[in-house]
Amino acid sequence: MKQIELKQICKSFDDMTVLKNLDLTIEEEEFLTLLGPSGCGKTTILRIIGGFEEPDSGQVLFEGKDITKIPPHLRPINTVFQQYALFPHMNVEENVGFGLRMKGVNKEEIKKRVERMLKLVNLAGYGKRRVDQLSGGQKQRIAIARALVNEPEVLLLDEPLGALDMKLRKEMQLELKRMQQELGITFIFVTHDQEEALTMSDRIVVMNEGVIQQMGDPKDIYDEPQNRFVADFIGDSNIVEGVMHADYDVSFSGHRFVCVDKGFAPEEPVDIVLRPEDLELVAPEQGMLVGKVESCLFRGVHYEMEIDVQGEIYKSQSTKSMEVGALVGITIAPDLIQVMHKSTKKGAMA
Ligand code: ATP
Repeated sequence: MKQIELKQICKSFDDMTVLKNLDLTIEEEEFLTLLGPSGCGKTTILRIIGGFEEPDSGQVLFEGKDITKIPPHLRPINTVFQQYALFPHMNVEENVGFGLRMKGVNKEEIKKRVERMLKLVNLAGYGKRRVDQLSGGQKQRIAIARALVNEPEVLLLDEPLGALDMKLRKEMQLELKRMQQELGITFIFVTHDQEEALTMSDRIVVMNEGVIQQMGDPKDIYDEPQNRFVADFIGDSNIVEGVMHADYDVSFSGHRFVCVDKGFAPEEPVDIVLRPEDLELVAPEQGMLVGKVESCLFRGVHYEMEIDVQGEIYKSQSTKSMEVGALVGITIAPDLIQVMHKSTKKGAMA
């Protein structure tokens, strides 16, 4: 069911337009991620949903009601910021219970709810600890507990894992997902880390320069990028130019391929996305394309190669290594060739 709707939101700072006629619908209980490069407007969207920023024009609806002018503390929405902003003079349980004390909830009830939250974030028994005795990951979990204890219907998370090291970050990604599923509330998550977005989200909104480029579930976004920006931003990819002759018939790098795409104009110039792991390396005489290995690097699980095909460099991944300078054939299955319309500057949905 629709929970939050942003309708035709415009926002400028000074003379700079940050969001232009943005429409976005967020469903109840979904884990939605706003993903895009620094400065594309993700935080501004979050702040508008939270009520910390008012749009210049447009509307914010919550369950059909206009909340555009309602202040943050009256919205059923809580926020976790990148800087945890815990109160240093309070211990863990005082920090978590702060919002409830402000609301005048009775002591017994606060104790019960704080304990439940500490258990949820895997910090049961930490209530009496001082905040400066916690690790970065533990502080972040306390910040999350402090937001969740108010039982919001929506939790906004602005790059909450940005300050954590890689291992902790991965652990917290899984924990956040578990919490969201356990509580059944809506999470709106901001990140510029595509892997994080792919791991956690039910739905990803890819943005660039204040414009939504594509929305979809992680697999759709990865497998079927709608334009060059999305293909480039999400995962490693080869993007080459080609021509779509007719339905299911495309050529690039001097070879004609069968593909699964259709609906393009006859002889339409297109961009093709090929994921490095989807190129199958074979003997040169068996290849649809033939190229020369320019480099071969060991990456732990696989080798990463650059292959020169008629002056075009293809990135490839394989569990077998190849000798630099060797000739190699490449085959690509029809369903692993992703054909896109040439991008307009602002993307497919502009
Ligand atoms: P990041 O990942 O770096 O946080 P973002 O996608 O969240 O980026 P926003 O924080 O939404 O981007 O900012 C979008 C643009 O608006 C940026 O160019 C930023 O400098 C500008 N901006 C944001 N807030 C303000 C403000 N209060 N005053 C002036 N400019 C602002």
